[in-house]
Amino acid sequence: MFLDVKELAVRKLRIRKTYTPGSIDFHSAEIKQLEPLEVTATAELLESQIRIEGNLETKIELVCARCLEPVVEDVSRAFDLFYAPLPKEAKPKEDRLKDDDTEIGFYEGPGLFLADVLKEQVLLALPLKVICQSDCRGLCPNCGANLNHEECRCETHATDPRMAPLARLKQDGPARGGRMTFCRSPRWPSVRIATK
Ligand SMILES: [Zn+2]
Ligand SMILES: [Zn+2]
Repeated sequence: MFLDVKELAVRKLRIRKTYTPGSIDFHSAEIKQLEPLEVTATAELLESQIRIEGNLETKIELVCARCLEPVVEDVSRAFDLFYAPLPKEAKPKEDRLKDDDTEIGFYEGPGLFLADVLKEQVLLALPLKVICQSDCRGLCPNCGANLNHEECRCETHATDPRMAPLARLKQDGPARGGRMTFCRSPRWPSVRIATK
């Protein structure tokens, strides 16, 4: 759906629309829309700014930052947004300018696509990082085993959850580098593994 300034200049638009999964491109393999996105909104032209006010709801599947298993997030967000015409000469350095409590975005030319607005609102509603459970043990950095489900036989286990996403890259061989690793299995006391 394209919001055309010329049409908005004539009348305020009432929007009630459903975007099926796949119709909005989130440009990320780690963000998957599970259910239709429902949006109810109004769009109008105030002076030369497009104002879009309303709310959206959907369900998004993300990826656990530690073990890479899917995590489902309910997304529900109310918004009241203003988009000013993009100045032709001086392009603003950032996409958005912060002016008091009002965030102002920009549109170029004849208007903007509602899907682009919704995509941005969904991304803003999502947490930067999700974890499937607070005590998720992540992946073994050596073999990539999901330590929530199995105890692998590697000598070293992940000590730093930030390493977990790298775990799959390291399946071909043991991790190299100067990082100290400790066995964190509850079956054994914490033991420093001697490097050969
Ligand atoms: Zn997890
Ligand atoms: Zn392992």
